[in-house]
Amino acid sequence: MADPGIVDILIIGSGPAGYSASIYAARAGRSTLVILGPQPGGQLIITSFIENYPGFVDPISGPILMDQMSKQAEKMGVTMVNDVIRSVDFSSRPFVCYGESGIRYESKAIIIATGATAKWLGIPGEVRYRGAGVSACATCDGFFFRDKKVAVIGGGNTAVEEALYLTKFAESVMLIHRRNELRAEKIMQIRLSANPKIELLWNTKVVDILGNGSKVTELLLERDGEEVRRAVDGVFIAIGHQPATTIFDGQLLINAGGYVIVDGVSSRTSVPGVFAAGDVRNSDYRQAIVSAGQGCIAAIDADGFLSNF
Ligand code: NDP
Repeated sequence: MADPGIVDILIIGSGPAGYSASIYAARAGRSTLVILGPQPGGQLIITSFIENYPGFVDPISGPILMDQMSKQAEKMGVTMVNDVIRSVDFSSRPFVCYGESGIRYESKAIIIATGATAKWLGIPGEVRYRGAGVSACATCDGFFFRDKKVAVIGGGNTAVEEALYLTKFAESVMLIHRRNELRAEKIMQIRLSANPKIELLWNTKVVDILGNGSKVTELLLERDGEEVRRAVDGVFIAIGHQPATTIFDGQLLINAGGYVIVDGVSSRTSVPGVFAAGDVRNSDYRQAIVSAGQGCIAAIDADGFLSNF
């Protein structure tokens, strides 16, 4: 692309936080650039159905919702760039961000909306068989497990949602949780127990994922100090997410969990002119609607900052 010059607001990330921020920023009359990042549309791109985003009577698919947000932003005059920011310099203004493409972006204000990515267990089989039976996305890979035995690891909403989704394809689904109580919402738990294809394994630790060299065949588990082996064809890891903040190390304050620290309910980070919205700042309320709301807050904060620039 041609040199974008110095824009008013540069938004890093294109999930609900990034798009919502861009819509508000453009409507405030600010020149607005969104750097789409490694997964344009963010986590909702790999979410099958969303039924708690207000405004939709029937469940809406994640990709369709994100496509609508993108088109809405485009209609408002937001410029989208298909690039990934690899490093930033927030030490002086205008701020500078360096893209994987080699482009150097300059802006008067920044909104960080880089979200979070899936966590892994850190066991050898997970690396060995990733893409050969091990996945962190049922919506992406569930289709490949038609009439197969699969396992989902985790006890939160993501794990339950993935287990339910996988019953559409798989012969059977084991949900393996390390405790005896799920973290998932009650309604999700009710759906889970009503589904005859799902077996719940409580108080169970995944020791390793075993295979025949080319694909997953078995899970090595530990329950009550005993080793248990279960045959599986696929394993879906759903144990939470890690905020995408590595590129901001040393540039602004980040907490022990890796989340960008903001000032109360505002989006202000430790660097004046840099704001944060969505899962990157938020470990407790990781919902699309919250991210969209925080995107709005960030755009209002950035607009206010630029008015006093
Ligand atoms: P959560 O952090 O809620 O849950 C992670 C789960 O993984 C927990 O049950 C945790 O166990 C388990 N876990 C974590 N680390 C390990 C490990 N090393 N070994 C074994 N198990 C582990 O993450 P989710 O991704 O499920 O959800 C994140 C947020 O997103 C939540 O706020 C959730 O409500 C929201 N969400 C909402 C959806 C919706 O509204 N449709 C859909 C999906 C997610 P333990 O419980 O013991 O800590």
